[in-house]
Amino acid sequence: MTTYQCKCGATKQLNKTTLCIVNGTAQVKEALCGCGEYMQSTKEFSGYPTIIRPDSDTNHTKNLHNNK
Ligand SMILES: [Zn+2]
Repeated sequence: MTTYQCKCGATKQLNKTTLCIVNGTAQVKEALCGCGEYMQSTKEFSGYPTIIRPDSDTNHTKNLHNNK
C-alpha cells in the first residue's frame, strides 16, 4: 500500500497503480485527484526508473528532464 498526496492536501492509498504519461511526465493514473492534479507518492521519491529503458540512455534521457 502506497500513500499518495495531492498538492491540495488530499490523500489516497493505492494498492495497484498504473503509470501513464501526462504532458511528458509519468503519473499514476489512479492517483488523479478531484482537483485535477495528480497525487504524488509520499514515499521517498527517486524518479521513475522503470519507464526509461537502459538502452535509451542517450539524449532521450536529457530531453525528458528538460521537459519539466
Ligand atoms: Zn487535489
